[in-house]
Amino acid sequence: MVLSWWQEVWRGDLERSDLAMQAEHRVARSRFVLMLVLAVFGGILAISDPTHVDYVRAVPVNLGCLALALAMLVVTRRGECPMWLSVATAIGDVSLVSLLHVLDLVQGNPSMAVNGRVTFMGYFLALVGTCIRWDRRVAWSAGVVAALQYLGIVIAADRMWPATATRDVLQYGLFDWGVQVERAVVLVLFGFVCGRIAAWAVTLREHATTDLLTGLMTRRTFEGRVSDELLRTRRLGTPLSVAMVDIDHFKRINDEHGHQAGDAVLRAVGAVLSGAIRRTDLVCRWGGEEFAIVYLDTSVDDAAVHVEQLRDRVRALRVRAGSGHEIGVTISAGLAGGTGQMTLESLVRQADARLLRAKRDGRNQLVTVEVPVIS
Ligand code: GH3
Ligand code: MG
Ligand code: MG
Repeated sequence: MVLSWWQEVWRGDLERSDLAMQAEHRVARSRFVLMLVLAVFGGILAISDPTHVDYVRAVPVNLGCLALALAMLVVTRRGECPMWLSVATAIGDVSLVSLLHVLDLVQGNPSMAVNGRVTFMGYFLALVGTCIRWDRRVAWSAGVVAALQYLGIVIAADRMWPATATRDVLQYGLFDWGVQVERAVVLVLFGFVCGRIAAWAVTLREHATTDLLTGLMTRRTFEGRVSDELLRTRRLGTPLSVAMVDIDHFKRINDEHGHQAGDAVLRAVGAVLSGAIRRTDLVCRWGGEEFAIVYLDTSVDDAAVHVEQLRDRVRALRVRAGSGHEIGVTISAGLAGGTGQMTLESLVRQADARLLRAKRDGRNQLVTVEVPVIS
């Protein structure tokens, strides 16, 4: 029982998490491991030398941070991630590092706070986590906040700097504004670099998951999303329908008007399909001039009504070719459905057989009933 709860908390619920929340959950896992290691080492130090005040004081701080990291692990295991949560956790992570610096100040060690290296490295660990949060603004704001908080610590350290060199100053060095400003600038720059990486990751992901011509999902992405949905459908026992859609005589359009006109037709048909489906349904460019649609929580009869509407909309389309000609276009479709007991592969096979029947029966139509296909 406890083990399965823990497994769910640790892995998160991929089926119900959006991408930003998945990223947030990954960061939460790293944060938890880091805090666990710190808490364990801190505990060992405190037990081995209970007279050392700094070691003993660090124990409740470490345990508090560990509890916070566990709470974040639980919170981020499922659901949609609001923008403020990413910003809040990223700023929270850098603030935690600033807090450790403040603890140095409170303990009367200003030189350790501004010249020490280990705690300062914590900012970079916190900022690296922003690279996988899919939003460069999160990285930028975390970098700027880290620099501002650090400057605040530097000002406080400057004010409380001792007139004569203490053990802290002898060990960690003198105060130098030049070095401190450099440190703050490095934090801002590092935040920008992380932002660049996050933006680049978004671009790469878009290229990998989106068909460049139509802007629809690629087949591979679609298959992944559908298999998640099939699991859910299986659990709830709700119906699901799959439509395979193919543009009629598309080769002729290419031959008569050129490939650019063909591309324009593909884009126009793709826009009709993506504009007409519900937010919960899924549509992809299956390949060439074929598209696939998955209707969730929808029986074949209800999906058929929708596909017929799509067919009407596509038939009403007029796409202007470079030559000035207006191109009309029609689609044929095959539809299959069932509950989640079926695989996407078997549903697609059925819908494909029905699409073939629609083509053989004269095109520009939808076939929903099983008809033996004689080849
Ligand atoms: P049917 O009604 O039987 O489906 O005939 P069709 O001509 O639509 O089908 P066929 O499979 O014979 O031809 C499909 C054509 O689609 C062949 C291929 O050159 C063209 N095609 C595939 N991808 C693209 C693309 O991205 N852009 C353009 N312009 N053409 C493409
Ligand atoms: Mg075709
Ligand atoms: Mg085809």
